[in-house]
Parts: sequence; structure tokens; C-alpha cells
Amino acid sequence: MDQKHALGVDIGGTKTAFGVVSDKGVIIFHGEVPTRDYPTPDELIKEIHAQISEAGYPDFFGIGIGAPNGNALTGNIEFAPNLMWKGIVPICSLFEEKFETRSILINDANAAAVGERMFGNAKDLDHFVTITLGTGLGSGIIIEGHLVEGQHGFAGEYGHIRVFPENGRLCGCGRNGCLETYVSSTGVVRTFKEWINEMPSDSLLTKIENPDALAIFDCWKKKDAFATRIVDYTAQILGRSLADFSCFSNPQAFVLFGGIAQSGQGFVDKVKIELEKNIIEPLKGKVEIRLSLLHDENAAILGSAATTFWKFN
Ligand SMILES: [Zn+2]
Repeated sequence: MDQKHALGVDIGGTKTAFGVVSDKGVIIFHGEVPTRDYPTPDELIKEIHAQISEAGYPDFFGIGIGAPNGNALTGNIEFAPNLMWKGIVPICSLFEEKFETRSILINDANAAAVGERMFGNAKDLDHFVTITLGTGLGSGIIIEGHLVEGQHGFAGEYGHIRVFPENGRLCGCGRNGCLETYVSSTGVVRTFKEWINEMPSDSLLTKIENPDALAIFDCWKKKDAFATRIVDYTAQILGRSLADFSCFSNPQAFVLFGGIAQSGQGFVDKVKIELEKNIIEPLKGKVEIRLSLLHDENAAILGSAATTFWKFN
């Protein structure tokens, strides 16, 4: 029997990336177009179809689509503030009509979990949670081999579990003290800005104008004391939170994904120490922290394609 192939599509505010992915997790064709060049979704889909057809891949097992404000239950993009396409866009139906195959819409945090399970660092796990550290903090939960989506597909919004509900940082969700306001790329920068008056004059960070999270993590790797304080604080809050989350689903592991998490094993080790300090006795020593094996630039395509194999099999 021939290998199966899925089309993975990652629609973003700036660019749309897509790829033909084998059921072994190999991307055999990759394309990218600026999303804003296409005033309607039909035009974007037509372009993807043209590129794929030209490359000679007409038949797909299915199409997995990741999109902002995607509703996994309806297959629609709903009122996405970062897209030009306003209102409700029936993105799954549009792809299905053009490609004459089934499709599925999935949020990126859940796609990361399925991608990790099929092609990444969780192939051997039936109980795990992926934690994606980007602009925010996303999480995808797999329990007993099943992706947990919940009533509206919002299960696993760990980023909005409040770690400092009283006087914590204001979150995009309108509440205070959510985990992602501390543990994410933007959270790390917020910590830096809050503490900037305490920065020693010999810190490497004084030489960088408006450092981003990766620059802060780079300085930590160069043993800068102020950057180390910031990274320690971030790892402490994450490790403590993962200890609490462990009580919910008793996972074998948390798999960390995203630029700052994947910047080194040192961060994982710090998170692990904090997790062990805070976890309940029966779970001590029983929850691993792993690094994702998916590469940042391809993870969304792999994850959405993986979801196709996962759901339609
Ligand atoms: Zn929030």
C-alpha cells in the first residue's frame, strides 16, 4: 500500500504556510504565501491548489488547517481580528470544495499535541500535555490516547489559569495574573521591564535596546546574573504551575515547545526542579519534562497534517 499524504495548512495573519506531509511525518513539499495578498479565502485556496497541483500532488488523505479564531467544531474561522477576511469564514468547506477531500480545523495548541504524539517526542506517551511558549502560553492535553477538546474546543487553556489572581499582571483576556503574562515570550519581557530599575550596570542586557525574550535567554546562557534572575523566575512559576496541572491529568510528561523553551536543556532542568519541589507526594519523580522534537517553522504544518491522520484513521 502506498504511503498516505495529508496537506497541512497554517493560516497566519502575515503568512500562510502549507506542506504535503507523509504519514511518517516527512514534509515532501513546502510552500508559503503572504496571507494579505489574498482579499478572499477563495483566492488563497486557489493559489495553494495551483502550487500543489503543479508539484504533482493531487490526492490527499485529508487536509488539516490551523487558523486564528478557528472553531474546531464548526470548521469556520470566526471574526479573526488579524485577518482581512471578516465575519464567519467557512474555511473547511472552501478547502473541501476545491480539493475534493475531507478537512479538519484545529487550534495550534492542540495541533502541537497531536504532532508531538505522531511525529515528535511523545510517540511513546498516552498521557501528556504540550506547553507552547510563544506570544502566549498554549497547551494541548492528551489523556489515555485521546485529545481533550471539551465542549467548545477550549480545553487546555492553561495560559489563563491565574497564578497571581490578586495583584497579578493584566492579561489580554481581561483578568489579572494569568500564567501566560509571566511565562511566555511577552511575559519574560514584562518581567525584564518591571525589574529594569534593578538591573546592574554591568549586565549584558544594558547593551541591548528593547531585548526580546530570546535575547534575555541568550544573556542567561552567557551567565549574566540579571538575565539568570529573570529566567529563574520564569522557570519557577512554570514549574510550580506544572506541579498543579499534574494533579488534573496525571501525565507521564509535559513537552515544552517554542523558542524560549527550546533554547536549551538548562531551562528544562530548572523547571523540573521547581516541579519536584511543588508536586504532591504520590506524583514525585513520576512526571517528566521533555523538549519538543518538532522544529518551530514546521511544527504547525506537521501538527495540522498529523491531526488529519489521527482523526480520520
Ligand atoms: Zn488571561
